[in-house]
Amino acid sequence: MISSFKIAFDCPILIDNDANSAAIAESRQGAGQGCSNFLYIQTGDGTGSALVVNGSLYRGSLGLAGEIGHQQVDPLGDICSCGNRGCLNTVINEERLTSVLQVTHGSMSYADLIQGCIDGDPGCRRVISDAAIRIGTVVASSCIAVDPGKIIVGGLLSKSGDIFIEPFRESIQRLLFPSAVTPIEVIASPIPEKNVPLGAALSAIENSKLELAK
Ligand SMILES: [Zn+2]
Repeated sequence: MISSFKIAFDCPILIDNDANSAAIAESRQGAGQGCSNFLYIQTGDGTGSALVVNGSLYRGSLGLAGEIGHQQVDPLGDICSCGNRGCLNTVINEERLTSVLQVTHGSMSYADLIQGCIDGDPGCRRVISDAAIRIGTVVASSCIAVDPGKIIVGGLLSKSGDIFIEPFRESIQRLLFPSAVTPIEVIASPIPEKNVPLGAALSAIENSKLELAK
C-alpha cells in the first residue's frame, strides 16, 4: 500500500496510528509539553495508547507498543479482530456501549451517547463511567510496567469530561500502590479535537527535515 501511495504522490509517505500521532501533538503543543515521560490514551471505537519516553515515542520492536485495546479482559469473551478472545476492544466499542441503552433509549450512536452524558442523562453517564473503569484497569497495568510521569486522555470518550476522567483516574490509582506513591496525574487533552491530525502533520514535517538533513 505504501509503495502505491509513493507512486501516486511522488513523495515520502509516513503512516502512523491515531494514538501515536496524538501523543506527538501533546508532546509538542499539548499537555505533554515539559514532560519527558508520559502515557497517552486514545479512547473511542477501540482503545489505544502511546508511550513517550525521554521525549520520543516508544514503538517497541514490532511497532505494536501501546496496543492496549488488544489486552485480554475477558478470557471467555468475544473473538476480537486480532484473532484473540475477549480483548478490551471487544467490550469497549460503539456497538457494545450503545446496545445496553437500546431498551431505554432506542438506537443510539456514539455521539448520542456522549451528548446524553454531557446533558446529564443518568443511563448514559453510567455507561461512560463503567467504560472508564474498565479502561482504567487496563491502563493501570501499563503504569506499573512503565511508571509514566502523567497520563493524558483524548479521543471520543474523553469528551464526556469528568464523567469519564474521574472514575478512570480512581480505577488507576486504586491499583497503583495507593499508600506508597503520589497519585499519578491524569488529565484530559487540552486539544482533543485536533491532536491526531496535528500530530500527523508535525511528524511529517519533522521526518521531512530528517530526510533533507541526510
Ligand atoms: Zn484483539
